[in-house]
Amino acid sequence: TGKEEVHEFKTETKRLLNIVANSLYSEKEIFVRELISNAADALEKLRHTQSMESMDSDKPLEIRISLDQDKRQFVIQDHGIGMTLDELNENLGTIARSGSKSFLEKLEKDGGSGSRENIIGQFGVGFYSTFMVGDRIKVYTRSAKPGSKGYCWTTDGQGSYTVAEADNVAVGTKIVIELREDCKSYASQLEIDSIIKKYSNFVGFPIYLNGEEVNTVEPLWTKNKSDVTEEQHKNFYRFIANAWDDPQYTMHYKTDAPLSIASVLYIPERHMEMLGERQEPGVSLYSRKVLIQAKSKGLLPDYLRFIKGVVDSEDIPLNVSRELLQDNILSRLRMVMTSRVLKWLDGEAKKDAKKYNEFFMDFGQFIKEGACTDAMNKRDIAKLLRFESSATASGALTSLEDYNGRKLEKQEAIYYLLTPKRRYAEESPYTEMFKKKGVELLYLYDTVDEFVVNHLSEFQGIKLVAADSPEAAADPLLQQERPSSADVAGGGPLLNEDDAKKLAKWMETTLGTASVKQVDISRRLDKFPAIVLEHESPAMRKMMQMMQGSAK
Ligand code: ADP
Ligand code: MG
Repeated sequence: TGKEEVHEFKTETKRLLNIVANSLYSEKEIFVRELISNAADALEKLRHTQSMESMDSDKPLEIRISLDQDKRQFVIQDHGIGMTLDELNENLGTIARSGSKSFLEKLEKDGGSGSRENIIGQFGVGFYSTFMVGDRIKVYTRSAKPGSKGYCWTTDGQGSYTVAEADNVAVGTKIVIELREDCKSYASQLEIDSIIKKYSNFVGFPIYLNGEEVNTVEPLWTKNKSDVTEEQHKNFYRFIANAWDDPQYTMHYKTDAPLSIASVLYIPERHMEMLGERQEPGVSLYSRKVLIQAKSKGLLPDYLRFIKGVVDSEDIPLNVSRELLQDNILSRLRMVMTSRVLKWLDGEAKKDAKKYNEFFMDFGQFIKEGACTDAMNKRDIAKLLRFESSATASGALTSLEDYNGRKLEKQEAIYYLLTPKRRYAEESPYTEMFKKKGVELLYLYDTVDEFVVNHLSEFQGIKLVAADSPEAAADPLLQQERPSSADVAGGGPLLNEDDAKKLAKWMETTLGTASVKQVDISRRLDKFPAIVLEHESPAMRKMMQMMQGSAK
């Protein structure tokens, strides 16, 4: 081989090297992600450049990693664009110099298109993550520009590196890491396999580990909606959710505004919370097919934790370590995605109400949780709620929208009754007049329903009112017609107004202030002599009963 040159890293590079190697990344394992991303970038650049000029390349566009536990070596090779001597010095000899960034800038200046979304690198620090695990790093590289020579670049990460011409270097780049004693687990196939799957599973080129391809699952979200079959979605869902069932709903959503987003989201057949354990969020955040946050906590609101899938955004300005996201970006993403998911569910409900109602029977608790916690999206969430009502068969559900559609002409409220069972509701004195006047009544069986209606308080401008509230009692729509004078006159079955008042007064004094506040004449009862109004809420009553029970 030819002459060897020793170079000092620039001063700022030395200083930065220390930071990168010791404190930029929370996990050492991310050096795998960084090297794979660089190899993928190199292949992408070759592919792009080849489409415009002839390049010295006949090898497949793939990434090969080989491990040697005895020698404690980690080796990664690509037959991508490679580096010339100048590029080596600039890109690897200078920290925070991203060859990828200048490649893109040049592309843009030349008016070139494409590639942008496929290039991962931009900060010029990823390569140095190898210094966290390696004692010595060797880079063999030959540019794919015709007639280029091969070079070997080495460093122990301590302040200088050497470059020398080298023979028999294949086009592309091969990086050999001599692992430190305490990092020897990165020569284990099992370990690296799981790291690749974790971060780089969807990188756009095949990754071989000791000869076996690791990333066989395609990133479906990057494809066109119409190019993906149900079968592919099924497999992909099972893969990312680590599940064996099939998704009951699939959403494949792409947009360019206000943020570039490509996503696939799934709703499993069943959720696991009936087993009593709170589920973790199930959607992971990617940028350019590289994992940013697995099962991200901030990407969707908590009540949508039953959804599984992937959201990929090219737009998210990443922190150099790629690990910390700017909060405002995450919240913008969350806003867009949440609203999208709620509208999607509403659309599915309208397409197939029966299917949606079945979904709701199982997953309704999450929607109700949303109704109580997500004030901003309350309107959209309210559309997704379903209840039994006096107009549905037992076990069948209605939406609030449909209820409104059936409302009587003079009806100004949506009426509901909190009741443990349908039968109780149907026999209750509170519902008698509703039945008689044909006013539909929602039956709310769930303890949480009381919080839901309190929180919503109205739906599309129409108030939600409890059937056993004074407000309902005052609704003229729910009153008996005035008794005819024949019914009241001497010997008729009803009391006249005066006598009725006297009776009420007598009851009020007899029962006493400890039992009642007030006794009024009601025109809403038919078969029942009296009802209680303005009592505490059923949930409160239940709590009181429990407290009294435990006091005994
Ligand atoms: P970034 O990827 O953010 O640009 P890195 O520190 O990971 O920063 O890499 C620095 C530069 O080194 C890259 O931009 C690229 O120009 C060059 N480089 C790194 N790995 C390779 C490779 N496998 N093939 C060709 N060039 C590479
Ligand atoms: Mg990089």
